[in-house]
Amino acid sequence: MSQMKTVERYIFKGKRAIIRVDFNVPLDNNYNVTDDSRIRAVLPTIEKILKDGGSVILMSHLGRPKEGPEDRYSLRYLVNHLSKLLGRKVYFADDCVGNSAVEMSGKLKPGGVLLLENLRFHKEETRGDRDFARKLADLADVYVNDAFGTAHRAHASTTIIAEFFPEDKMFGLLMARELSSIKKVLSDIKRPYVAIIGGAKISTKIDVLNNLVDKVDDLIIGGGMMFTFIKANGGKIGKSLSEDDYLETAREIISLAKSKNVNIHLPVDAIIADDFSNDANTRVCKSDQIPDGWMGMDIGEKARQNFSSIIIKAKNILWNGPMGVTEMSEFVAGTKSIVRSMAEATSGGAFTLVGGGDSVAAINQLGMADKVSYVSTGGGALLEFMEGKELPGVEAIMKN
Ligand code: AMP
Repeated sequence: MSQMKTVERYIFKGKRAIIRVDFNVPLDNNYNVTDDSRIRAVLPTIEKILKDGGSVILMSHLGRPKEGPEDRYSLRYLVNHLSKLLGRKVYFADDCVGNSAVEMSGKLKPGGVLLLENLRFHKEETRGDRDFARKLADLADVYVNDAFGTAHRAHASTTIIAEFFPEDKMFGLLMARELSSIKKVLSDIKRPYVAIIGGAKISTKIDVLNNLVDKVDDLIIGGGMMFTFIKANGGKIGKSLSEDDYLETAREIISLAKSKNVNIHLPVDAIIADDFSNDANTRVCKSDQIPDGWMGMDIGEKARQNFSSIIIKAKNILWNGPMGVTEMSEFVAGTKSIVRSMAEATSGGAFTLVGGGDSVAAINQLGMADKVSYVSTGGGALLEFMEGKELPGVEAIMKN
């Protein structure tokens, strides 16, 4: 990626730069940011532009609003936090396009920072609408993409907008670092190579699973998606999360693994609950013998030990997705045990890479981000990049 165009070589004096950032951060019930690593990650890009004498317009999505604006997904709740981190006032436009955005961006002085309201309050964003992209583009002189987390989406603000800046489009420093670090990893894989995949659904991770199955030595599966695999194997899963349309897919992945001599590891036991709640009654049971009316919420103690013994022997480890419902304090033990094993493997010389919001949040909660080799801000984007797919957000900047 020697031809990578980044903010480093551009002089922003007197320019307004619109930066696509990934401020899709977790908020608590009082709208406090509970993990600001995604915000901190783009500060160097913002600071470079401001230091040059430019001004900055930040645009992001937050959550998954369905029909237009929803207060709980408003980016206004990030203004104070961001302002503290930057040590300067941050202006806020209550719509990302339209009069307020046009006026406020027009008034920006060198050193000024404006945050736009959630892009996904407009359906045009995810549809990749050209007119909407043009309205965003009209706010600025330069386009910077520093949102690795959404680079796999051909949305208006991540991809289409780049068309309007043929000469003045570039990667932010975070994007550049993500791309070059992951490329480095891919070019030198050591064995045993272990992938740990968790999270809610198999449906969102099929491509990744299919792709990893013939590259890794061991594939560890946890999280909600493990129950579709367990059911596909004939196990009883009670009312655990299951995607019945994907039972056949799960069987195909299992048989592909067998034919390639790859070990798939499913948790032998699970922490089960009688309700999807932190206050539910809980028990530990075999993960394929979950009673009716109970659901699996995390991997059990034996599974933690099994997974740990595989991880600490590995030399190359990729992890994406939590082992349990980590939003609830009762069900974080499995995910935390993965973090500790990854740290142990790293100190023994393994290369360990973690991506995805929940996994990264778990690592940060334990204060162990510096105990693994690389923490990526990307989840889906990281996985697609590792699969060798072109990321539309990257391509849009690279092409002339
Ligand atoms: P993903 O975005 O696909 O990585 O999935 C993350 C989500 O998976 C988190 O919100 C977790 O609560 C959820 N999750 C993990 N384990 C389970 C489980 N056993 N049952 C239901 N949801 C789960």
